[in-house]
Amino acid sequence: MAAGGDWETVVGLEVHVQLRTAQKLFSVAPVRFGQPPNVDIDAVDVGLPGALPVLNDEAVTLALRLGVALGCTVRATSRFARKHYFYPDSPKGYQITQADEPLLSDGHVVIDGADGPRAIPLVRAHLEEDAGKSVHDELGTRLDWNRAGTPLLEVVTQPALRGPDEAMRFFRALRSLAMAVAACDGNLQEGSMRADANVSVRRRGAPLGTRVELKNINSPRFLHDAVAHEARRQIALLSAGGTVTQETRLWDPDRGESRVMRTKEDAPDYRYLGDPDLPLLVIDEARLDDVKATLPELPAARRARYEALGIATGAAATLVDEPATTAFFEAALSAAGGAAASATRAKAVANWVVNEVLGLPEGLARVPPSALGRLVALVDEGAVAGRGAKDVLRALHDTDDADTGAVVDVDALVDARGLRLQQGGDVEARARAVVREVLDKSPAQVAQVKSGKDKIKGFLVGQSLKALGQGADPKQVQQLVDEELAKR
Ligand code: ADP
Ligand code: MG
Repeated sequence: MAAGGDWETVVGLEVHVQLRTAQKLFSVAPVRFGQPPNVDIDAVDVGLPGALPVLNDEAVTLALRLGVALGCTVRATSRFARKHYFYPDSPKGYQITQADEPLLSDGHVVIDGADGPRAIPLVRAHLEEDAGKSVHDELGTRLDWNRAGTPLLEVVTQPALRGPDEAMRFFRALRSLAMAVAACDGNLQEGSMRADANVSVRRRGAPLGTRVELKNINSPRFLHDAVAHEARRQIALLSAGGTVTQETRLWDPDRGESRVMRTKEDAPDYRYLGDPDLPLLVIDEARLDDVKATLPELPAARRARYEALGIATGAAATLVDEPATTAFFEAALSAAGGAAASATRAKAVANWVVNEVLGLPEGLARVPPSALGRLVALVDEGAVAGRGAKDVLRALHDTDDADTGAVVDVDALVDARGLRLQQGGDVEARARAVVREVLDKSPAQVAQVKSGKDKIKGFLVGQSLKALGQGADPKQVQQLVDEELAKR
């Protein structure tokens, strides 16, 4: 039986969001990426006798920021527990996490579903520390504990996602939100967000099927592929009269397949115990009010506002996806005179950012947003043609003004290149004379256009523009060619 049909895929995600603190969750060791092995650890991280954990308050603040943005209920009193397991990546022999009384519960993430927006309900979100990692190379297996103790917020959804697409969208929406409130740097290459995907399939309307957990997936695209592959595997199994075994599998993005890590039978008994070294985590009203008061406008609200300015849905979604893009757009729009400058101003700036700047290598970093804003204003006012403006944009991109912070005089650039369109009555009269001359000199092409070969018009426009030089306005010339052709 083909996938789809009356099969439904059900996904619940557990996403580990790395909180962007300078120090570890329970120690003062720095959190850094790409350091030599085992330089960022201290006595607490490796569990030396007598070393006591002290909760990093900054991690709590970041968790609260994301929790409030997710609409979670905040527990006034939550607690930490030890989750015991014996594996060399966990030097203490246990992980500090939150079990029965997590900091955050409920809440939701809104995604674009197939039939409009859908709120995906969360079960909980809790603070926990990351583990270290085993490095396997030609020297054998060695341990790097730098990551041990890195603060994570684990966000757990209900089994409410329906298939690979929704799982991918959830991952993206959560990343966007976490970045917007500055809780996470969103850097997927560095593992700042990692998802465990629980996947089951069922006949539509039937109770939930047996789930398989896919571990440690670090990008929305991999998540999509892993869920799609797992659903196909389960449907094939069930369709052939087999059963799904509850197990944990590891997704290999390079091979596009998963393999078994462990089955339910060898699931570890974690022997959860309250951590006696850590006091209760108490959040008072004043602290929560403070978090609420300092949250920025969230991506969904900002997107709705952009759409109300006439910006297309897709472009608006792109602009709010990452704070760097949003900041660039806001700076460019403000330099373009703001949304009130003209009915098309916000839309024009949005299109230039999304279609042009984001298409250039490191576009956001290399183009000064204020210069782009002025350039788009000139285009929007009809003072520069789109084609000419693209030349200027490339010049802005190729110089290092964005790095040096030098203020770019876009008007001077436009004038130096002779790109400012001549406007006014004289200009039109001169352009019309040139167009007439071109038509006079091209009787064969005029006849072809008259006989319906509309494409030849481009030749006539091109010849006229060439004769007029760079300051000519292509739109105006096109209009004049049409008018003059109609008279013949
Ligand atoms: P555990 O206690 O074993 O960790 P939970 O019930 O807390 O399991 O669920 C863990 C994750 O698995 C949650 O994200 C949940 O939504 C998801 N989940 C549970 N059952 C299913 C199922 N049948 N199909 C898909 N996902 C599921
Ligand atoms: Mg966990």
